[in-house]
Amino acid sequence: MTSLPLVFDAPRRGLPPRHLADLSAEQRREAVTELGEKAFRANQLSTHYFGRLTADRAAMTDIPAATRDRLADELLPPLLTVVRHVTCDDGSTRKTLWKAHDGTLVESVLMRYPDRVTLCVSSQAGCGMACPFCATGQGGLQRNLSTAEIVDQVRTAAAAMRDGDLGEPGRLSNIVFMGMGEPLANYRRVIDAVHRICDPAPDGLGISQRSVTVSTVGLVPAIHKMAEEGLSVRLAVSLHTPDDELRDTLVPVNTRWKVSEVLGAARAYADKTGRRVSIEYALIRDINDHPWRADLLGKLLRKHLGPLAHVNVIPLNPTPGSKWDASPKPVEREFVRRVNAQGVSCTVRDTRGQEIAAACGQLAAEG
Ligand code: SAH
Repeated sequence: MTSLPLVFDAPRRGLPPRHLADLSAEQRREAVTELGEKAFRANQLSTHYFGRLTADRAAMTDIPAATRDRLADELLPPLLTVVRHVTCDDGSTRKTLWKAHDGTLVESVLMRYPDRVTLCVSSQAGCGMACPFCATGQGGLQRNLSTAEIVDQVRTAAAAMRDGDLGEPGRLSNIVFMGMGEPLANYRRVIDAVHRICDPAPDGLGISQRSVTVSTVGLVPAIHKMAEEGLSVRLAVSLHTPDDELRDTLVPVNTRWKVSEVLGAARAYADKTGRRVSIEYALIRDINDHPWRADLLGKLLRKHLGPLAHVNVIPLNPTPGSKWDASPKPVEREFVRRVNAQGVSCTVRDTRGQEIAAACGQLAAEG
């Protein structure tokens, strides 16, 4: 089905220079002092970046010009520039294609719902996990994103919401690491980004940890490690089938860590954090949508997670050239019914961004 190799370690090339958003509040004060300025300048810079959501030095008029230039040259290097925005779903979904300092392209997707606003962020340029149904996975891994490159996707989206770029002004409330890349393969930078995104302003962007979801193919050691971080972010596990035989091909990393190990790690995460784990299930016609698989999924989840699991069924978004398709609606309904019948909560995820290649797994950024 796929001949791509699994790639865990990204090439080191291409990461941007150090940026304010790579650093903790403490590290920011140290960095500013090392540049020969007073430590409180770090708080001023942070208030602009994390509080007022601007990286534009010209707006930082409370800092004397010479100091401002020195600090901005060293701590606010340009990271991501907009190549284009594409909007759909009556203006409630917007995909942004970004170009990084080295020409690398990444995407993020902003989605406005009646009760929340969610940003889907990328954690890597490309992905090394080789899932055959995912456009990003089929394109391979270019490089990791830096912490600041992840945070800057969030900062700009928060500013866009505040400024009414997606209709009425609103507040960015939720973050999902479901864009390009495998977040747990870029572990340290992603965890640092979570702190920057969630620390209260002006240390960070002040988004609640409970409103942040980190989605993984199932890198078991990294899930156990994340359980020890003292975070309350939601974990999502891309399971896609309950049996190892099929999962070895649908999610090739299953050849390293089996379904039972992945669910064991998910359980450890749920126990440690008290948070329900989301189980992602891209439903693919005649591949993983059989009634027996729904029954097996329900049984396995009841055993490993019980009430600590919630299954999100995602209708497959066919990627260009793929022979696979979403399941017919009656098959989807029967699948959900059977999982529920095992006492496991299960719903169908609404898929946004279909017409603009911004839906799940379609972020391939062809430029
Ligand atoms: N690498 C992480 C996060 C990025 S993908 C992960 O795999 O969880 C986010 C979700 O979209 C995953 O559940 C992924 O399997 C799913 N996905 C990828 N391609 C898709 C497609 N073509 N249709 C539906 N879901 C897809």
